[in-house]
Amino acid sequence: MNSPADLPFLPFARPDIGPAEIDAVSAAMRSGWVTTGPKTKEFEQAFTAFLGGGGLQSIAVNSATAGLHLALEALGIGPGDEVIAPTLTFTATVEVVRYLGADPVLVDVDPVTLNIDPAKVRAAITPRTKAIMPVHYGGLACDMDAILAIAKEHHLKVVEDAAHALPTTWRGTLVGQLQSDVTVFSFYANKTITTGEGGMAVTHDPALAQRMRTMRLHGMSRDAFDRFTSKTPAWYYEVIAPGFKYNMTDVAAAMGVEQLARLPQFVQRRQALANRYHEQLAPLPLNLPANAPQGDIHAWHLYVIRLRADAPLGRDEAIQALSDRGIGTSVHYVPLHRHPYWRDRYQLTPEMFPQADAAYQAMISIPLFTAMGDSDQDRVIAALHEVLG
Ligand SMILES: *Cc1c(COP(=O)(O)O)cnc(C)c1O
Repeated sequence: MNSPADLPFLPFARPDIGPAEIDAVSAAMRSGWVTTGPKTKEFEQAFTAFLGGGGLQSIAVNSATAGLHLALEALGIGPGDEVIAPTLTFTATVEVVRYLGADPVLVDVDPVTLNIDPAKVRAAITPRTKAIMPVHYGGLACDMDAILAIAKEHHLKVVEDAAHALPTTWRGTLVGQLQSDVTVFSFYANKTITTGEGGMAVTHDPALAQRMRTMRLHGMSRDAFDRFTSKTPAWYYEVIAPGFKYNMTDVAAAMGVEQLARLPQFVQRRQALANRYHEQLAPLPLNLPANAPQGDIHAWHLYVIRLRADAPLGRDEAIQALSDRGIGTSVHYVPLHRHPYWRDRYQLTPEMFPQADAAYQAMISIPLFTAMGDSDQDRVIAALHEVLG
């Protein structure tokens, strides 16, 4: 058997890009239309169809961050407003709240699911609260019944950060089809499908869809492809607001169409890898990630293990020991209350977020990506048994 040193380093994540994506990108580049055009339209339509249609509109953007910004802008979030979000997330979830001059109010998570705790959401509501941003951590749905009920009761908007949640279901309904205002997916390099950089905002509300479409391209009443193809003069457009430059390119969308077609196989592979980790890691002093409720889909964007108090070494030592054995890992996330900007601006302390903080100190994201083989996974499992057994 090879010693770990002979084997290439196994990264924590790697995109799964095949010949279909490469051919589609080449075709887009040869087509003469590289920016937002027919491929972007096709990707939006395919995305809507994947989520089951039903009046849903999909707006392709150049990142999920852009999509979250457009969503809050379209909902009229502005200075003086508060938006409730979990502390255990990527900074993108709430930096967009600051773009608009509003204030994020961070709350703690549930210790089992690591998703935003609805009781903490309720306790954080003030007269300034305008919206809730649940994050489906790792690909497991938040308790959306509770969150939507709180939102309804207090007349709050809901924007789901679904960067991890393609595809994820809550009580049988795909995230994207729930009764929130806008849901935003990410196609960043390590997400369940990728366009290099990219995102998709989806909504059932035609007015929100129209505002996001306009604002993603400079606040112009017509995009370049529409001007190129329609009968009215190509040179004419009207600017109705100071918009942004958030449109997706056709080169990226060409990749997205092919990735989306492969998503059903990706989901199966991720679930199989998760099942195998569950079985093989069960004897170790770990808290393993929660499964979706029976019948629901967990996207398994992340597989986050947490060291128990009886583990023979700490989180940082375990990460080093895995790295020494050629295994890449990550941590999702250093909670926002520990980052200087959020900590100092809102005077946040770890004691205010006991669950997220304890989880952070024990957590390791281990490799889970569709391009990894069973033998790659065996290496991760063996290394964990060596380090923690
Ligand atoms: C990746 C990610 C984002 C940002 O996605 P981009 O497409 O890179 O802008 C936002 N929120 C969460 C929770 C993420 O993991």
